[in-house]
Amino acid sequence: MAFLQLRGVEKFFGPHRAIKGVDLSIEPGEFIVFVGPSGCGKSTLLRLIAGLEHIDGGSLHLDGRDITRLPSAKRDLAMVFQSYALYPHMSVFDNMSFALKLAGVDKATIKDKVEHAAKTLNLERYLHRTPRELSGGQRQRVAIGRAIVRSPKVFLFDEPLSNLDAALRGQTRVEIAKLHRELGATTIYVTHDQVEAMTLADRVVVLRDGAIEQVGSPLELYDRPANQFVAQFIGTPQMNLLAAEAVPQFGTDGGSRVPPGGSVGVRPEAVFVRPRGAGRLQARVELVEALGADTLIHAEAGGVQLIARQSERTQLRPGDEIGVDIDASALHFFDRDGRALRP
Ligand code: ATP
Repeated sequence: MAFLQLRGVEKFFGPHRAIKGVDLSIEPGEFIVFVGPSGCGKSTLLRLIAGLEHIDGGSLHLDGRDITRLPSAKRDLAMVFQSYALYPHMSVFDNMSFALKLAGVDKATIKDKVEHAAKTLNLERYLHRTPRELSGGQRQRVAIGRAIVRSPKVFLFDEPLSNLDAALRGQTRVEIAKLHRELGATTIYVTHDQVEAMTLADRVVVLRDGAIEQVGSPLELYDRPANQFVAQFIGTPQMNLLAAEAVPQFGTDGGSRVPPGGSVGVRPEAVFVRPRGAGRLQARVELVEALGADTLIHAEAGGVQLIARQSERTQLRPGDEIGVDIDASALHFFDRDGRALRP
């Protein structure tokens, strides 16, 4: 049995089946990220593991112990919330030590653990402040510190960075990655942020309508999506999707590998913009997004909408005529039900 084992986990909210028989094996030290569209059940699945929701079917085992019916406090897990959930009137030190005090841990050990966590998180200077006297990023670090001092078997994070601005988000994301490298603690992390999922995860779990679509390393999901849903969910901007019939005009026989009703996917970095007249297909620029390091060129080619990503800057403007090629070796093929077809 895996370190954390989910078997046939079910959750109903009234008649709504929010989690549909989820099986998942998590190994010690893994950083697992749950992603999926809004309402797919990411938070619910995390809360079931945490023991914050009643489980309606299936089982949960942690480190060989059946925790399915165990109250949250006895599961040996620590959860970090988006809202931080700090005690506003308590100092940082007291916030971080609260759970240990409740557990009857002696004062010297508490001091040791809190100071060590504070050092790890760069919070030493703030131990006597209250949360109100801290920035959002510092508060989130306190919330993480409060989890660390308990040395739980698993860390659970529910969109921990979503209240931070973009710069701080990036910074805190890097800190969480470093922290995981240092502590090696098993972690489950819910986010709707692609970059967080791709950069933090050992394995990403893609959820849709309460069920798992695919589990894999970030690059496995990117390079070998199991289906059209995962292919279009992972990657920004989305993978371009063409009807199979539209593919021959790109000069590849790729389309013939797809049964009727199927489709062909091509990532924006595998679409190449050529000068007018060059390229397999003629196209018209609809929008140019200069992102700095990257440029996204949206174009219409033979009735197909395509996005090309290139690292070169461009003088192109909407309305310009261009040529387009696609990298025939980088195509993804899907049957009419959206399942990936492998060569
Ligand atoms: P988001 O990214 O928007 O936070 P999510 O993937 O975390 O979404 P959940 O919050 O887990 O999704 O919700 C899954 C489904 O269960 C949704 O359809 C939601 O409306 C429903 N749901 C969640 N909590 C409750 C509840 N307490 N009562 C009723 N329905 C709920």
